[in-house]
Amino acid sequence: FCFPKPRNEPTKNYAPGSVERKLMRKKLSRQEKIKVEIPVIIGGKEVRTGKIREVTMPCDHGHVLAIYHEAGPKETELAIKEALLAKKEWESLHWTERCAVMLKVAELISNKYRYLLNAATMLGQAKNVHQAEIDAACESIDFLRFGAYQASYIYQWQPLQPHEYDCVNKMEYRPLEGFVLTISPFNFTAIALSLNSSVITMGNTTIWKPARTSLLSSYYLMKIFEEAGLPPGVINFLPGPGSEISEVALRNTNFAGLHFTGSTDTFNTLWKKLGENISKYKNYPRIVGETGGKDFIFAHYSADIHALATALVRGAFEYQGQKCSAASRAYIPKSIWKKLREILVDWTKNLSVGDVRDFKNFVNAVIDEASYKKIMGYIEKAKTSPNAKIIVGGNGDKRTGYYVEPTIIETNDPNFLTMNEEIFGPVLTIFVYEDERFEETLTLCDSTSSYGLTGSIFAKDRKAIEKAAKILRYAAGNFYINDKPTGAVVCQQPFGGARASGTNDKAGTYLNLIRWISPRTIKENL
Ligand code: GLU
Repeated sequence: FCFPKPRNEPTKNYAPGSVERKLMRKKLSRQEKIKVEIPVIIGGKEVRTGKIREVTMPCDHGHVLAIYHEAGPKETELAIKEALLAKKEWESLHWTERCAVMLKVAELISNKYRYLLNAATMLGQAKNVHQAEIDAACESIDFLRFGAYQASYIYQWQPLQPHEYDCVNKMEYRPLEGFVLTISPFNFTAIALSLNSSVITMGNTTIWKPARTSLLSSYYLMKIFEEAGLPPGVINFLPGPGSEISEVALRNTNFAGLHFTGSTDTFNTLWKKLGENISKYKNYPRIVGETGGKDFIFAHYSADIHALATALVRGAFEYQGQKCSAASRAYIPKSIWKKLREILVDWTKNLSVGDVRDFKNFVNAVIDEASYKKIMGYIEKAKTSPNAKIIVGGNGDKRTGYYVEPTIIETNDPNFLTMNEEIFGPVLTIFVYEDERFEETLTLCDSTSSYGLTGSIFAKDRKAIEKAAKILRYAAGNFYINDKPTGAVVCQQPFGGARASGTNDKAGTYLNLIRWISPRTIKENL
């Protein structure tokens, strides 16, 4: 028996005058008036450590949305104990019972907590209503429903030779022996959810370190899991400093896996640390990580200019470019540049920048001060370099919120800093190439950055598309033809990249789920 194939959750559009818009506004104004107290949650119990920190709004940094109790080494030790304890029962449940909890979480998000999760994501992570809807609501629900659907296939899949007359062979899909550490990023509420849901669906238990800047939505997710009937200790919620929490987790003998999304640097540090501890572990841990990107849009002279401009603006500036998949470097043939440049400058200048509570704003604040400084630092370098010029944008304002204007840099150096390094902000760099150097420039694009997450080719000419697909084979784990490189939909475009972008275990698919099992082969003589 397998679950019926789900449909992707339809997005609500929040059009002016719509019921959804009214409900969303109501939820937002209620949410902004309260100050939530976020505890540590271990073994189903709330722990108040008294080490209090604040969660503020990126669009209005004087506004405190929540306070949280910080977890440290002691709470991490306790969380590991509770995770191991809870695992005994959780893994012995039939897989359909575990999936039932995931499907219940999906129902709760879809019908009861959609506006709450969207509001928390808007206020806490500075997503506009549409970006919040496709993330916190739709992608979260999709991860849960498709996760259960794909797990139903895995649990029944016995890819073995049929037994001979004298024995029976089977494979039992055990979870990993030990606990899994999950570390989630600020930029997608759905990723925070799926880093945990995929692991626990397969019978494991987790200790979860959510990003400091997205604690409000992460905390609500935790509460929704509890309401859906997740037994205590299956997910243990540890807001706190990543270095302290991972230090304790990675020296524990029962450390069985890491499910990570975040920066390449942090992932590398964790990998080194667990390498140092490798002989301590009972099992070789599973390491699954999705890290950075320096994603490209490559245009051929046959490209449709308006479709290309749309992809550049949406790919680079939606959610302020804070997606691992954001279009941040582009290769444009000289013959179309003049016209494209005019359109890009015009459209970019007209994007409204401001607070998420005003629904007309397309671009909102970047996540925090550190991020603001980093992004502005790159922009300053472009301003002072003889090899680059800013063709639109270039200013920031952090008086009330961390606002950075959508910025386009043109460079004559294909290896210019901003063609190479991940900025994680609303900054797009463009390199204009001679039309006849199409192939050569594709090779350059392939070798320019160390990442390999997403990328797009724009062309009407089929041969050009084929050439690009071939030369850029390893340059992107998600390759788009005549579309922007962002906005992968669960189980339509399984997401993940290789090279410095991660282990490419395609979030939300069976490829990811099977990383969380450790099969046992059983032969029985008849
Ligand atoms: N899955 C998202 C997309 O396709 C990006 C996820 C991320 O930024 O980590 O745009």
